[in-house]
Amino acid sequence: MDYQALAQLLFPHVTDTPESLEERFPPRNLPEGAVVTRMAPSPTGFVHLGNLVQGLTSERMAHQSGGVLFLRVEDTDAKREVPGAVEVLINTLKHYGIHFDEGASLDGDVGIYGPYHQRQRADIYHVYAKQLVLQGMAYPCFSTEEELSAMREKQEANKETTGYYGPYAIWRDRSLEEIQAQLDAGKPWVLRFRSTGSIENQFKFDDLVKGKLTITENNIDHVLLKSDGIPTYHFAHAVDDHLMRTTHVVRGDEWLPTLPFHIQLFKALGFKLPKYVHIGPLMKMDGNSKRKLSKRKDPELALTYYKAEGFPVEAVYEYIMTLLNSNYEDWRRANPMAPASDFKFSPKKLNPAGNLFDYAKLTDVSKNEIAKMDAEKVYTLLLEWAQEFDADFARKLASDKEYAIRILAIGRGGKKPRKDIATWKEAKPYMGFFYDEYLEKPVFTFPDAIVREALERFLKTFSLEDDANAWFEKVKAITCDMGFTTDMKAYKANPEAYPGTVADISTIIRQAVTGKTNSPDLYTVMQILGYDRTVERIQAVLNTPA
Ligand code: GLU
Repeated sequence: MDYQALAQLLFPHVTDTPESLEERFPPRNLPEGAVVTRMAPSPTGFVHLGNLVQGLTSERMAHQSGGVLFLRVEDTDAKREVPGAVEVLINTLKHYGIHFDEGASLDGDVGIYGPYHQRQRADIYHVYAKQLVLQGMAYPCFSTEEELSAMREKQEANKETTGYYGPYAIWRDRSLEEIQAQLDAGKPWVLRFRSTGSIENQFKFDDLVKGKLTITENNIDHVLLKSDGIPTYHFAHAVDDHLMRTTHVVRGDEWLPTLPFHIQLFKALGFKLPKYVHIGPLMKMDGNSKRKLSKRKDPELALTYYKAEGFPVEAVYEYIMTLLNSNYEDWRRANPMAPASDFKFSPKKLNPAGNLFDYAKLTDVSKNEIAKMDAEKVYTLLLEWAQEFDADFARKLASDKEYAIRILAIGRGGKKPRKDIATWKEAKPYMGFFYDEYLEKPVFTFPDAIVREALERFLKTFSLEDDANAWFEKVKAITCDMGFTTDMKAYKANPEAYPGTVADISTIIRQAVTGKTNSPDLYTVMQILGYDRTVERIQAVLNTPA
């Protein structure tokens, strides 16, 4: 076969050479050990936890080594593309503190290794396609969809590996004349790789997450260019990651099965193989078994879910770090206030089997994160969330900032800050009663006469000037005057002897003032509500007919 003639026939328009591309995209001038990595999403519009896991891993590896993180848009499948998807991805990752140094951006492509949108790189792929044809390592295939599915059926019936290989690779060794005839007839074609691999051969390979792998050579003549001249993922991966000077490929382990082909392709193209970081899937418990988080079944896979629930970014970030590096939690305990970027992240600590996503753990982490914030910060983040998801609550919070901050300061600071809320969504149920319109009508468990007596007695002695002790002494006095007890032990030993305890009296007062049986410290609540509003609320209960 005259490869020169074939290459000319298939790619007459290609005049650039691999050498000229090497010059156009020179090696990066970075310090020893600097990691260059990327995110390479398909713009489908769905940004999920897996993207964040991959994004954080890449970001940490690049930035803690003084390297580069870039964004490449893998838009080779026009059918799956959703308008605005890249913007959503960039903004979402930015929200989680992941910034790209280079690549696709809201203001267009930035950087000298572009274009960073694959559909704009067709000319570049064709240079290498032509080179492979010239070297006899790629050939055009005119098999139709029908022929290929008939072949697959036959292979399945024979219990053979499916795919285009060996005797099934029927266009592998056709003559130039046959190819010419097909082209003249205007038949569509794809470009296939001519594999010289054998499934009899295995070799060792080191993945930064999976460790030592035994890889079986690829013997399938995979497609490099589709009939529209656009590359497959495999070919684009090799060309782009080489020319963009990627040192580490961080990606999901669903790519492991095609890794043998990628290794083969890099070699055929004369490219140095990057290091691979294959991340395992995110799973959840479903009954007694683990399964992969699914877009269809699990709303918590989407990152928009966390925003709408009001998990602070810090919480999601912290939680993902605990998932990724098992020593992160110990480090965090020893360095509670340090920025997460001080932690030495290692891809080697990722669990090769993937991670179990634990919602309860995320909630715990989030409670801690919110407890660490000062009231001013909580106010800012809560207001920001409410402005997007609860406009009415946002208006109330904004109408009196100082009041909101006094509420949010309850139990904050000190050695053991309260951990009342895990999300901004939980803030309204927790503190809404401070706003008259959100105050719920209390439902008392004690008979009306007891409720009234307790509240009337409380009103008689209530003073905002009392300190917490004096205030509680008065509640205790009411308790005793009504025949209830302040002695919890005695009550436990003989509950029949008393109508109830000081806790019951407190609850009646609490319910009248907050509408709820649970609230932050009642003394402080009254201090914040002030004398008039406290009395008004109690009076309103007394004025309600039994
Ligand atoms: N476009 C591929 C994906 O979304 C990229 C995989 C990679 O990072 O190489 O899965």
